[in-house]
Amino acid sequence: MNDFEIKTVINPLTADREYIREVAEVKRALELWTMEPGFREAFLAAPEDTLAAHGLSVDALAVKILADHETAMKYQKTPPGELPSAVRRYRAFNQEKVADRARMVKEYCVPKHPAVRAWRSRQINRCWAELGARNRSLIHVPMTYELDLGCSVGCPFCGIMAPRLQKVCRYDEDAALWKGVLAFAKETLGDAAGQGTCYYATEPLDNPDYERFVDDYFEVFGVVPQLTTAVSMRKPERTRAYLDAALKNCRRVHRFSVLSLELLHKIHDIFTPEELICVELLPQFAEAPQNRFANAGRARQSGNLHVGEEDGNTIACISGFVVNMAERSVRLLTPCGASEAHPTGEIIVTKESFSDLDSFKSVLISMIDRYMQTEFPNDQPLFLRPAISFQKTEEGVEFFHSEKFRLKFRGEDDLSPALYQDVLDKLQTGGKTADDIAEELMEETDSFPAHVFFILKKFEKAGLFLEPYECEGR
Ligand code: SF4
Repeated sequence: MNDFEIKTVINPLTADREYIREVAEVKRALELWTMEPGFREAFLAAPEDTLAAHGLSVDALAVKILADHETAMKYQKTPPGELPSAVRRYRAFNQEKVADRARMVKEYCVPKHPAVRAWRSRQINRCWAELGARNRSLIHVPMTYELDLGCSVGCPFCGIMAPRLQKVCRYDEDAALWKGVLAFAKETLGDAAGQGTCYYATEPLDNPDYERFVDDYFEVFGVVPQLTTAVSMRKPERTRAYLDAALKNCRRVHRFSVLSLELLHKIHDIFTPEELICVELLPQFAEAPQNRFANAGRARQSGNLHVGEEDGNTIACISGFVVNMAERSVRLLTPCGASEAHPTGEIIVTKESFSDLDSFKSVLISMIDRYMQTEFPNDQPLFLRPAISFQKTEEGVEFFHSEKFRLKFRGEDDLSPALYQDVLDKLQTGGKTADDIAEELMEETDSFPAHVFFILKKFEKAGLFLEPYECEGR
C-alpha cells in the first residue's frame, strides 16, 4: 500500500515542490496526448523514452492509466492506495477544479438580487432540459464584462461569432466609469457580479490596459477574473507577468486557447510544466487528436471543421448581463443550443446602450424590472416550453426532452397524482393563468386553489414555462 499525502494545488498551493512537479508533469504529458499528433503511438511503444524526449520524468504507468482508456479499465478496481502517487494526486487536482466549478454554480455565482436570482435559477433548470449534460460545464455567471468591441484574432470556429476588433476601452479615459460600473454591479448583484470575466466576445490581451482594469476588479471583488487568451504568445513576457501577479493575488484556473501545433510547441518551450499548473490548454486546432469544436457560431457555418455532433452546442456560460465598456452597452443573455434562430447558442433577451454611470445604472435596473421576475404573478398567462414534451404517469406527470432530460413530479407531497394530471391538462391549451386554472379545478374537482398554485410554482421553478417576456404577442 502506498502511503502518501494528498495536498491542494490550486488554493492553497502546497509548498511541496516535488508534489507540484509530479502533478504538473502528468498534466503536460496529457496535453501532449490530446494535442500532439503521433505522441500517443510513440508513448505506447516506448513510454519512458517518449516522456524523456519531452523533458518529463514522471511515472509512465501513471500517465498510461490517466490517458489510455484500456489501461484505465485494467486498473479500475485497483484500490486507490495501490495506484501510483501521480494518478491519485492528478485526480485529486482535477477534483479540486470540479469542486470549485460546482461551488461557482451553486454559491459564488448566485446573485443577491432576488429577481435576478430567481430568473437565473429558472434558466439553469431550462438548460438542464434543453442541453442535458452540456449544462454541467456552464456556470451561468450573472455578470461579465468586455473591455473591447470585437476581437483581433478572428478564429474560424468562434462559437459566439466575435466581430473584428473595432474599438478598445482605454483605462486613462474610462477608469472612473469602470470603477463606478463595478461598484454598482456589486451593490446590485453582490459578490456574484465579480465571478465573471473581463472578456467574452473579445480577446482580453487585445486591450493594452487589461492589467489596470483587472487591478480595479481585484480591488472591488477581491478576485482576479479568469483569463482565457488565444494570444498567450503574442508577448510571452506580458503573459508571464500577468500570470505571476494574478496567481499571487488569487489562485484560480486560467486558460490558453491553443490555435495551432506551432503555438503548442511555443507555449511548452516558454513555460515550464510547473508554471502552467493553473493554466488549462484548450486544443483548438484541427490536427489535435482530441479537438472538437462546439457546433455553434462560426464553427456551425463552416463545412470543414470537426464539430460536435450532438445538439445543445453552446459556449455561452452566462445567464445574466454582459457589460461592454467600449461600446457602452449591456446585453442580457442566457445559453441555448445553437440553431438557426440562435446561431451563437445564446438567447439574447435584449441589448441596450448607456452613455455614463447614471445611464448604466438605469439600464441595469430597468432590465431587471422588465425581464426578471422573482415569481410569476397569478394573472400571468402560462405557456409550457414548446421544446419540452410531457405525459401522465401512474405517480403524476413527467416532462422530457429527447433522451437528455426526464423530470418526474410525483404525488408524494400529499397531493394526488390526479391533481398533477389535471393541472397539466389545463396547461396544454396554453395561455391560462394560475388564477384561471385554480378556479376551474375548484369548480370541476373541488380542488383547493392553494394546492393548484403549489404545483404550478413547482413547474415554474423547474423552468418549464416561457418567461413572461417570451409570451408577448402569443
Ligand atoms: S474564439 Fe475567442 S479569440 Fe477566437 S475570435 Fe472568438 S473571441 Fe476571439
